[in-house]
Amino acid sequence: MQNFDVVVVGAGPGGYVAAIRCAQLGLSTACVESWINDEGKPALGGTCLNVGCIPSKALLDSSHQYAHIKHEAGEHGIAVSGVSIDVNKMVARKEKIVSTLTTGIAGLFRKNKVEWLQGHGRLLPDNQIEVTPVGEGSTEKSIVSARHIIIATGSVPAKIPPASIDQDKIVDSTGALAFNQAPRTLGVIGAGVIGLELGSVWKRLGSEVIILEALDEFLPVCDRQIAHEAWKTLQKQGLDIRLGAKVTGTGTNNQQVIITYEDKDGKHQINVDKLIVAVGRKPNTEGLGAKEAGLALDERGFILVDEHCQTNLPNVYAIGDVVRGPMLAHKASEEGVAVAERITGKASQMNYEIIPWVIYTWPEIAWVGKTEQQLKDAGIEYRSGAFPFAASGRARAMGETGGMVKILGDAATDRILGVHIIGPNASELIAEAVLAMEFDGSTEDIARTIHAHPTLAEAMHEAALAVDGRPIHI
Ligand code: FAD
Ligand code: AMP
Repeated sequence: MQNFDVVVVGAGPGGYVAAIRCAQLGLSTACVESWINDEGKPALGGTCLNVGCIPSKALLDSSHQYAHIKHEAGEHGIAVSGVSIDVNKMVARKEKIVSTLTTGIAGLFRKNKVEWLQGHGRLLPDNQIEVTPVGEGSTEKSIVSARHIIIATGSVPAKIPPASIDQDKIVDSTGALAFNQAPRTLGVIGAGVIGLELGSVWKRLGSEVIILEALDEFLPVCDRQIAHEAWKTLQKQGLDIRLGAKVTGTGTNNQQVIITYEDKDGKHQINVDKLIVAVGRKPNTEGLGAKEAGLALDERGFILVDEHCQTNLPNVYAIGDVVRGPMLAHKASEEGVAVAERITGKASQMNYEIIPWVIYTWPEIAWVGKTEQQLKDAGIEYRSGAFPFAASGRARAMGETGGMVKILGDAATDRILGVHIIGPNASELIAEAVLAMEFDGSTEDIARTIHAHPTLAEAMHEAALAVDGRPIHI
């Protein structure tokens, strides 16, 4: 039986990063991964690289470029005619990016001497793991043992009874990344991050998109002011988002999907060519043998862990989407690093208060820390400053004048409590706020920091000045 210091189960951004960090720290490390891609080949990278963050951003970027050329080039004095799209080429480009990156992880494993155990991992007693190879040419099962086990089995799309996935007309997020043409009409269930991103892709490529969201509130995870701004902008782009609309049933005929939903006005029926079910994700412990191994899960199926990702079993850790906290790739990776370092006696710790979020609509939405509502609910006194991109020279030059940066600072100490952005490149701009908060910075720190001109980042500077009532450009 092979013996390792660490065996990681799952090679998504949680697992592969944990495995590499363990190996860097001198631990003999193996990573069990069962993913088989569309070509029937084993692949590393998990949801994020194969069917999540990366392919969705590839299509968001392609569709953004198309929409930009079509609708905005004229404003720059560029006359373009005969613009057309080849969705198959766009999807092939996305797949090439995915395969480059996933084979890149295999290269990183080789470089760091992480052994990839291809197959499905199942927990056995006494820190042993059974590996059942999957896919073509599968070989015999094997059993390995490990001093430490890190479970990083991730998540899978949640399902709802009224809409069963056939990956043809009714698809989950994975199917929605592989349409071979833009459907004429597209329904989306769920106006969460994934629903809005995928809805945006196909809207830009020509679909008529209707998003049905059971909640009455739009983007409840966001600061209200930002969510309001996002609502206005996305509506203006033509996304038909219906709030308080609970899908109760779906059916298909040869041509279409028939969706029934209820809202305050009663029952409704709409027909669409394709339907994306984007109602969230659930933790994945399928076939892991959690119950038999005595691994404790909570009532929603997440593996129970403490603040250091330690499970109830000695030397068994769990990280990423399969445990509590936001289902974000960077959260999974940082937990992986922290666990690897703690195994080797380092005092690594995740700062769960400072995890950035991004929604890659256009304009992008990004935030870190508390929303204004959360501060009010907690009775925390704060000062707020905002700066609209309409007043930014760089944003004007780019023709991207929608949105704002908003900063919330503690009224007594001026410590930054939250930063909320809707605007161009918000996903990149938020990094400054994350860094400032990681250093326990104040709004005054950002206000005193010299920002290059002309940049979008100056909006962050001005918002910080605005907290103290001294913005220059508004
Ligand atoms: P996963 O990436 O789910 O990886 C788990 C891996 O474990 C899988 O490869 C699986 O095959 C393997 N596995 C499971 N069980 C076993 C077993 N028993 N044996 C062997 N292997 C096993 N997050 C962001 O931060 N930014 C984004 O822009 C973003 N966009 C997204 C877009 C979409 C469409 C989707 C679906 C998700 C997106 N996410 C995004 C979320 C992100 O993908 C997840 O948070 C992230 O992948 C979680 O990482 P993980 O390592 O915990 O799990
Ligand atoms: P997220 O968890 O951010 O991916 O968002 C998923 C969204 O789907 C949530 O906002 C849910 O309210 C929404 N949702 C779940 N079930 C239904 C349903 N039957 N009809 C409409 N929306 C739903």
